[in-house]
Amino acid sequence: MARGFRAHDSMPTMLSHPVKYLRGVGPQRAALLEERGIATAGDLLGYLPFRYEDRVRFTRIAEIVPGQTHTVLAEVADAGGTVRFARGRGPIFHVTVRDGSGVLHARFFHGAYLEGKLKPGQRLVLHGKAVLDAYRPGRIEMVNPEIELVGTGDSAAADSTEVGRIVPIYEAIGKISSRMLRRVIYGLLDDLDGNLPDPLPETIRERYGLPSRREALLYAHFPPKGENLERLNSFRSPAHVRLIFEEFFYYQLALAARRSSERRQPGIALRVRDDKIREAVKRVLPFKPTRAQKRVLGEIAADLERPLPMQRLLEGDVGSGKTIVALEAAAIVIENGYQVALMAPTEILAAQHFLSARRVFARAGYRAELIVSGRNRAQREGAAARVASGEAQFVVGTHALIEDPLRFARLGLVIVDEQHRFGVLQRKRLAEKGASPHVLVMTATPIPRTLALTLYGDLDLSVIDEMPPGRTPIETRWTSEDRLAGVWDFLRREIARGRQAYVVYPVIEESKQELKAATEEYERLSKNVFPNLRAGLLHGRLKNEEKDSVMEQFRRGELQILVATTVIEVGVDVPNATVMVIEHADRFGLAQLHQLRGRIGRGKEKSHCILVAPKTAAGEARERLETMVATSNGFEIAERDLKLRGTGEFFGTRQHGDAAFSFAQPLRDHELLEAARREAFALAEDPALAGKVIARLEAASPAWQKRYHLASVG
Ligand code: ADP
Ligand code: MG
Repeated sequence: MARGFRAHDSMPTMLSHPVKYLRGVGPQRAALLEERGIATAGDLLGYLPFRYEDRVRFTRIAEIVPGQTHTVLAEVADAGGTVRFARGRGPIFHVTVRDGSGVLHARFFHGAYLEGKLKPGQRLVLHGKAVLDAYRPGRIEMVNPEIELVGTGDSAAADSTEVGRIVPIYEAIGKISSRMLRRVIYGLLDDLDGNLPDPLPETIRERYGLPSRREALLYAHFPPKGENLERLNSFRSPAHVRLIFEEFFYYQLALAARRSSERRQPGIALRVRDDKIREAVKRVLPFKPTRAQKRVLGEIAADLERPLPMQRLLEGDVGSGKTIVALEAAAIVIENGYQVALMAPTEILAAQHFLSARRVFARAGYRAELIVSGRNRAQREGAAARVASGEAQFVVGTHALIEDPLRFARLGLVIVDEQHRFGVLQRKRLAEKGASPHVLVMTATPIPRTLALTLYGDLDLSVIDEMPPGRTPIETRWTSEDRLAGVWDFLRREIARGRQAYVVYPVIEESKQELKAATEEYERLSKNVFPNLRAGLLHGRLKNEEKDSVMEQFRRGELQILVATTVIEVGVDVPNATVMVIEHADRFGLAQLHQLRGRIGRGKEKSHCILVAPKTAAGEARERLETMVATSNGFEIAERDLKLRGTGEFFGTRQHGDAAFSFAQPLRDHELLEAARREAFALAEDPALAGKVIARLEAASPAWQKRYHLASVG
């Protein structure tokens, strides 16, 4: 497969070579590449083509089938020129090409940049869909085809990368065109050290029939002639499979190594199977658990029993009932004489968990404590003393829990609610307040299993895939602002029937963005629209006491309308609230809309979600609104969200900012992800061997080293 490339023995290029020293890369191009995170030869080799073009067999112009995509090699017959159009339509550039069998026309919208570039006789590859010219019968044209100038026949060097083969097409990087990238990468492969290290263990390579790293790179950039184009373009050639597998494998290996180092610490083996404990857990349960809740509690209990610290992710859609499972787990731990800490991302949610824990634990006699910042000093010190002495058994709080002075007497279980709002480091810092306590993290981000494994790959996964009984589906509508009067009428009627409502705005205060703001709208709604109803205002900038009191009044039903920002997005649970109006709904992301909507539909009464957005909402915003109307299934919404935003964005979460894979895609490649995960976790069983692989890996690529370290902390 290395055919065509020299295997140097003198002064070969190493993967760590800075790009600025590569053939064909000057300081300017090097700067552009570096901006893209491509600093070394190795990084550049990781920049794979996004498409391949068969330039072995071009379509002869006479054989073009209108309606199909073709690649044509032709020479410029007439470089026509630019025709300018009035009325906002940009200039159109025309060119006519021929190949001996016929003539083809090409039109380029906004093509002024082509003026003067094309000369008669210039050879050109055109790739695009051929269509019949609507105005000139029998004439075939391509509109905005991709084009590339190629050498003039006598230039063998040009031909070796541009025609007569399957040609890689790269996404241009600034002013560096696909063609330039192709030349630089070709030159680099040619100069590359023949002994390219391959950190992937031989046994794994053999098991999956994967080519060596060197082979895979040569092949993925410049596939040999006979290769199946479709397989290349779907990234399923052996070379692609190898490169995708390896990205997943190294990443998962880092996760596995981290996990096994955590596993080597002894944990707290708790008593679980004894009648007293069973009784205690039952006492805590206010209702009959769903089958899914029972199963998940079983998984957690089995972990708690083992002398290893639990590291478990509990995933379940909004409203699926994660909290009570966490409280049951807490009951087991408290009965064993240990403390439990529950960390929530907002003060509102922490306060709510505190209140429900107090209610649920009252019968069992457990003492709960709330730790948030901003209480007065005496209160804080009193609470901290009760935590330090062990008197406080269930400690709920915000990130204030991880602040320094707080000490626990015997921390046995750490629960992190809405994990996506925290970083892994925060989770760890809380766990470090005990001696290897058990850890349970909960998330309502309903991500497909494979993605969950990727994001939280060092955790075991439990899924609540069933809603508590007696929920009526939420009806979701989308309406425009000129119909608001009708929306408010609807709200009044529902409130007259004893229900409560949320009205959500994107910002707290009026700003230049011309968005309605919670504060102003609260004034307006309570004065002009609902003068006879009791409304409250909730946003993140209120003082703790104000937040608590507003939330408490709403919970008790003393407030009928809660005007709020997205502070209510996580966790707020008031079953009697059945109406949610979201203004400027087109400004919210899909996951956020889903979380917000999850605040209603929590009781027996039918719930209604009304999205207010401009009639003209188009593109992605419109798709988001339509998705919300079509489904309330969190997993479906997450998949749509992934399709709309792509995994890159999806992984742009706090934990994974830079660690997104360079070409592997968890959704597309989930089978390889699973295989790589299995292999990596199996390898990590042998820490010595895993250590060797990781060392080789770090030596092989600075980019991987960076990623590995990233993965090992988060
Ligand atoms: P989330 O998973 O979003 O955190 P919660 O734990 O807040 O969901 O639960 C949502 C609501 O469903 C709460 O009001 C809770 O009391 C209720 N609930 C949970 N489990 C059950 C069950 N098995 N039967 C009836 N209601 C339940
Ligand atoms: Mg919750």
